[in-house]
Amino acid sequence: MTSNKTRGQRERGDADVKSGRHFLQIPGPTNVPDRVLRALAQPTIDHRGPAFASLARETIAGLQRVFQTTGAVVIYPSSGTGAWEAALVNTLSSGDRVLMVETGHFATLWRDMAVRLGLKVDFEPGDWRHGVDPALVEARLKDDRARAIKAVAIVHNETSTGVTSRVAEIRRRIDSVRHPALLLVDTISSLGSIEYRHAEWGVDVTVSGSQKGLMLPPGLGFNAISDKAIAASKSAGLPRAYWDWAPMIKDGASGFFPYTPATNLLYGLREAAAMLLEQGLPAVFARHCRHAEATRRAVRAWGLELLCLNPDEYSSTVTAVLMPDGHDADVFRKIVLERFDMSLGTGLGTLKGRVFRIGHLGDFNDLMLAGTLSGVEMGLAAAGVPFTRGGVTAALEFLAS
Ligand SMILES: *Cc1c(COP(=O)(O)O)cnc(C)c1O
Repeated sequence: MTSNKTRGQRERGDADVKSGRHFLQIPGPTNVPDRVLRALAQPTIDHRGPAFASLARETIAGLQRVFQTTGAVVIYPSSGTGAWEAALVNTLSSGDRVLMVETGHFATLWRDMAVRLGLKVDFEPGDWRHGVDPALVEARLKDDRARAIKAVAIVHNETSTGVTSRVAEIRRRIDSVRHPALLLVDTISSLGSIEYRHAEWGVDVTVSGSQKGLMLPPGLGFNAISDKAIAASKSAGLPRAYWDWAPMIKDGASGFFPYTPATNLLYGLREAAAMLLEQGLPAVFARHCRHAEATRRAVRAWGLELLCLNPDEYSSTVTAVLMPDGHDADVFRKIVLERFDMSLGTGLGTLKGRVFRIGHLGDFNDLMLAGTLSGVEMGLAAAGVPFTRGGVTAALEFLAS
């Protein structure tokens, strides 16, 4: 095959010239809408000047509405992992017990971080095909008569498996046994895509990031914080400096940050929150549900298996699909990338090679989904994976109905 690279590209080692847009169908980073790209492309301003203060205040106000809270929201120049660390170091002390549940790769990474920070983690084993069992959380807390467990830390939408946990029900179970543990929830791949109510559901710290449902490039991490969590932070003993909420909240009240914020990403975040609120969160959540259902119909029609086993826990942002035995998901993904210029999510951790993941979140519509599923169907054929044709047709019928 002859290369269609220009000489300059060959010299730089760039990829072949492609026409049309790349399909970025991993479950984050997601496609950045043109409105957000334009908002990012503004001159960087003085982050201690008056124009910045109104940008910061408007951005935080928009983000509060997305989290569905009127309480404190803190924005870090970090990936989501930084916001995980912030949630732990601001609320807990060395040796504190934390209840976590092995829903998948991200829950496992957050557990590893908690252990490295010196916390004692009760890690409930899981099969990576189910969400957090609310009854199990209730039972563990009920057994904890000494009230030694200081926090329950769970992942709302396990991006590695396509399984969503029932946070509101877990909160009710914690309350039903009157346990004082804090509830910390990772919403990195669900905020702005799947129904989530920080205040109403009584979550103490909600962790999130910019590059998934919020349709921004990577680079911002968020904590939404309850009054109870702020109170806990006053006596929490884990060392913290960069991640300390106190100066963030103090300076944030007047629209400033204790250190240089990611100014241009804040322009983008203000725009992205405005877009979500213009559409209306209920409409945004309904769109994600619909695209996820269409995707599952395609997968079933292909005769392939969904990783998620509980229909009440199907993720609306990402669908993980099991490869038939003897077929490597990463070989299939490579063919899809080379032939159709589409990136699909890889299998993470123990799922490596066994699943591929279709991201259907963020700035996305029916025809983008139709294109995505067409790429999967053509890719299955090109990779010699045994499947039944008709997945795209099943999805289109659902979308048109
Ligand atoms: C992406 C993701 C993370 C990690 O976020 P980074 O921005 O890569 O640090 C953590 N948890 C979940 C659920 C995620 O989807």
